[in-house]
Amino acid sequence: APAQIGVTGLAVMGRNLARNLARHGFTVALHNRTHARTESLVAEHGDEGTFVPSERLEDFVASLERPRAIIVMVKAGGPTDAVVDELVPLLDEGDIVIDCGNAHFADTRRREQALSEHGLHFVGAGVSGGEVGALEGPSIMPGGSAQSYEKLGPIFESIAAQVDGTPCCVHVGPDGAGHFVKMVHNGIEYADMQLIAEAYDLLRSGLGAAPAQIADTFREWNSGDLESFLIEITADVLAHTDAATGEAFVDVVLDQAEQKGTGRWTVQNALELGVPITGIAEATFARSLSGHAEQRAAAAQAFATPAEEGFADDPQAFTDDVRKALYASKVVAYAQGFDHIAAGSDEYGWDVDPGAMATIWRGGCIIRAKFLDRIREAYDDQPDLPTLLVAPYFAAAVQDGVDSWRRVVAAAARAGIPTPAFSSSLAYFDALRRPRLPAALIQGLRDNFGAHTYRRVDRDGTFHTEWSQDLVEHEA
Ligand code: NDP
Repeated sequence: APAQIGVTGLAVMGRNLARNLARHGFTVALHNRTHARTESLVAEHGDEGTFVPSERLEDFVASLERPRAIIVMVKAGGPTDAVVDELVPLLDEGDIVIDCGNAHFADTRRREQALSEHGLHFVGAGVSGGEVGALEGPSIMPGGSAQSYEKLGPIFESIAAQVDGTPCCVHVGPDGAGHFVKMVHNGIEYADMQLIAEAYDLLRSGLGAAPAQIADTFREWNSGDLESFLIEITADVLAHTDAATGEAFVDVVLDQAEQKGTGRWTVQNALELGVPITGIAEATFARSLSGHAEQRAAAAQAFATPAEEGFADDPQAFTDDVRKALYASKVVAYAQGFDHIAAGSDEYGWDVDPGAMATIWRGGCIIRAKFLDRIREAYDDQPDLPTLLVAPYFAAAVQDGVDSWRRVVAAAARAGIPTPAFSSSLAYFDALRRPRLPAALIQGLRDNFGAHTYRRVDRDGTFHTEWSQDLVEHEA
């Protein structure tokens, strides 16, 4: 029988996705540029389901039922274009090419446009969950045409993670919508991880707690509102002892965080759309800063540690403050991420349903967390929510944590412990909530030096003051 779906690109991710599909009863066509990978997949896992391997791309395409559905799981960028270009002449109208790699959504829009001119569907699908997720159930964020989802939906929804019987997969929207949402997902992941790292640093440097103790604290936190995959694995990583040295694992790891670029994409796009995703931006820059080893060494030598290091008066109370500050900051990070999705959806005409995104992030993906249920409920109750921060549940959580948040950020500043994500999230919250901002002064300065004009609180219109002529004001 012809295969129902094909996978080309059988490195870690493609291999595991193909196995996941086969385990769910789909007949899976296989192809990889280097045929040895295909052979090893069939040799090692051929008994998990029905695979149809092909060495040549032509044979792979011919082995598929029509309309064909072909997952491309190769290195993002040039390799994806190369594979798509090879595929297009072999395909027929109505066939679907699905890029499950980490593509930039603008590339996906370009590819979708190009393939639609050939009568083909191009679907950019974000896949989160790493290699384990790909095998056992990822969160899948497919974009592309609604028509393509008629074929893909049942397949993807059956291999995706399931939470309370609901699959972690939904049609996100046209063309690049899926990859855009995956990008923002990764941005939120950056913010979430930076916040966790700052919480750890506060307990470690502020209270002098040992990594194993902090692991216990995170494990405890994981039984409350903060319950999430990242909090859970934080406890595991902190509890881990390095086999070679017997030291805490976290102490033998070089403290320079790397990145593959999705955080940077998120921030770049947010700057273009004018969405203040300050938490994600701080998290991305914090990783960059950590890598500037020479500057760090020079500054460490030039400046002493603040005298007031440590604040162990009441460790339990401080730990509780950190937990609340972490939760409030996390709410800000998600509020900003969802704002970003809304702005992208408006800009590119995608009509993305934010509640549905919270739903498909509940399982399979790296930012899976209990509180995503709350986000979905917030958008169910009020689809035009101006910001997640004012949804009743989150407003109450932030209100409950705000004093702790201020104490933590103030203590960190006094002790010289950098908390860019905690601090900027609090600043974002305060800026949003303040009735007036010093932006009025900025408008005055802009009018003074550049005649950029300003609006007034008491009258409609645009005004300019002749700063050199006795301050005459007139309508611009
Ligand atoms: P890699 O990104 O390492 O890519 C390796 C695969 O790409 C191999 O199958 C390789 O074929 C193929 N390839 C590279 N260049 C070409 C080319 N010019 N023509 C044809 N095939 C080519 O594999 P991963 O499995 O790690 O990731 C696949 C995709 O999934 C990437 O886009 C990645 O960003 C994304 N992703 C990865 C995650 C992860 O946790 N690793 C998580 C989510 C998404 P060959 O065997 O012949 O070299």
